[in-house]
Amino acid sequence: MTNMTNPLLDGSGLPRFDTIASSDVQLAITELLTQTRSLVERLTDDAVPARWTDFAAPLSDGIEHLSRAWGIVGHLHSVNDVPEWREAYNGMLPEVSRFYAELGQNLKLFAKYKAIRESSEYESLNTAQRKIIDNEVRDFRLSGAELPEDKKPRFQAISEELASLSAKFSENLLDATNAFAEIVTDEGELSGLPADAVQAAREAAEKESIAGWKFTLHMPSYLPVMQYADSRRLRAALYRAYSTRASEFGAPELDNTPLIRRILELRQEEAQLLGYSNFAEVSLVPKMAESVAQVQTFLRDLADKAKPFARKDITELRDFASKELGLAELEPWDIGYASEKLLQARYAFSEQEVKQYFTEGKVLAGLFHVIETLFGVSLKPDTAPVWHEDVRFFRIETPGGELIGQFYLDLYARETKRGGAWMDEAITRRRTASGIQKPVAYLNCNFSRPVGNKPATFTHDEVTTLFHEAGHGLHHLLTRVEELGVSGIHGVEWDAVELPSQFMENYCWEWNVLQKMTAHVDTGAPLPRELFDKMLAAKNFQSGLQNVRQIEFSLFDLRLHSDFDPTGSRSVLELLGEVRQEVAVITPPEWNRFPNSFSHIFAGGYGAGYFSYKWAEVLSADCYAAFEEAGNPFDPTTGKRFLDEIISAGGARPALDNFRAFRGREPQVDALLRHSGMGV
Ligand SMILES: [Zn+2]
Repeated sequence: MTNMTNPLLDGSGLPRFDTIASSDVQLAITELLTQTRSLVERLTDDAVPARWTDFAAPLSDGIEHLSRAWGIVGHLHSVNDVPEWREAYNGMLPEVSRFYAELGQNLKLFAKYKAIRESSEYESLNTAQRKIIDNEVRDFRLSGAELPEDKKPRFQAISEELASLSAKFSENLLDATNAFAEIVTDEGELSGLPADAVQAAREAAEKESIAGWKFTLHMPSYLPVMQYADSRRLRAALYRAYSTRASEFGAPELDNTPLIRRILELRQEEAQLLGYSNFAEVSLVPKMAESVAQVQTFLRDLADKAKPFARKDITELRDFASKELGLAELEPWDIGYASEKLLQARYAFSEQEVKQYFTEGKVLAGLFHVIETLFGVSLKPDTAPVWHEDVRFFRIETPGGELIGQFYLDLYARETKRGGAWMDEAITRRRTASGIQKPVAYLNCNFSRPVGNKPATFTHDEVTTLFHEAGHGLHHLLTRVEELGVSGIHGVEWDAVELPSQFMENYCWEWNVLQKMTAHVDTGAPLPRELFDKMLAAKNFQSGLQNVRQIEFSLFDLRLHSDFDPTGSRSVLELLGEVRQEVAVITPPEWNRFPNSFSHIFAGGYGAGYFSYKWAEVLSADCYAAFEEAGNPFDPTTGKRFLDEIISAGGARPALDNFRAFRGREPQVDALLRHSGMGV
């Protein structure tokens, strides 16, 4: 097969889903890897001038060719996971991963980027180009590229030890989770549990040929017990086991306590090698948040305002538990159970009933109408080769009919499709030799397909998910940036990337939008107001408690990595105690060992970054509040400013500058509180 006939090598337009076969993958990707490697080799030659047009631009072009082709392979693997595509994808994955790892370690590339950064050309580059150079230099620096030669081996050793400690932390946690089982032999103890949870527990016991029901600390077994089991003894037993996992109360070889100290010590040393005073500072460099102090102030401000509501939530729960459930003292293992009973008693409604109102045609028309009104664009059906007959294709145009971008919409669940919902990019907007390359996105969901001759209906959660992914899609499609590295979602700080998506979710809670976006599948009637009010109340149920809990985790994580001495005498638990004293309204038992299972920060990428969850929520709520202040969720002036300053800006400008340009001030927490029913 020649290159001319391998459709994966054709980067001239939309992916050729009608002709691409799994048998094209190995040849095309191998060919592109070879081409790109030799391009990198050529461009890093001393003879090549360190200039944008001689180095950065051709490098970006070459890598794009590879990433577009590999993107198609990855996409097909996700939406059409049949054996031949799985094999084709997995067959090339190690090669492709190795290539990108090499790029990140290539010090010759670093030298070229740095030379551009220090050259007289730099000032003459446009904002987007400068940002790309800055990002490259920053990322190489943070991976130790600029350390003196005698410090590099130590830096490398730290990285390797940290990687193995993180892996060990997860393994211990998993092994400790698996080490526990509670066998129930008294059927009376199953009271309150949903039938499927009981059935699963019975099957788990049967598998080991034991009598009774086996409960474990894995979520599908643990959660229903904490939420529904009437047996307080059973809840208490599981809670205790769960919250002491991987601690000194279990097998010594699975204890994460010494690992936590060591991880913190090494992160501190790494930060100092890089010239920072602590690891939290390092973590913030590529993020939107500017300083440790700024994040601390943000979290404390939110805590101050949410705490009275959290106190109210817990008082309400205590009263209810003692009066209605006979639980005089509300223990930690009663909280989930009592909350579920309270929710049912106060705000119960049927998800199934709500679902009857969200028919597919109405929902899509509603979403399109929101996008068109908000951003002054028009959406039209379009045609393109697709990977499955369910997939639809649309175009976004200016009011004058000029093409802005296109997107695929693959709504329904299939056996061969990966779970969840996600937006992915097929083509990214940028300027090429022949003009502007228009962006293309994939929107993928896993909703239920139509049954019989009735249209498909979606739960409100699914509708919210669709709006969320559409927000990511708009960030990608409505960008005006012309340089690949910071176009659309490229180069956007990861604590800012959820802003457009979470922003779009707000429209699923606008009564005026919902009225027009709903039609009962049988009667055609719009969603009744009474049902909407119940949905809203359930959404905000215990939001005070939920907020202070997230703040507790965030502040603990931040302080661990900024004002805690891992070699000092103060323990991690003492610091957690201090944080709880300050922001929490529930004090867990003295034997609770939450840090030992906090894998987000010790085994995931969230070290000194757990706050990002709240941060992004605050930003999107605060942006939406600008529309509320204008008195109209579709206010055209505000919509244009939101498009100009945030949605279209990509990663070309720091996200905090985007926010300030849109809002004219620093982010404030009040809108999030108000939207969660904590308004004052
Ligand atoms: Zn998202």
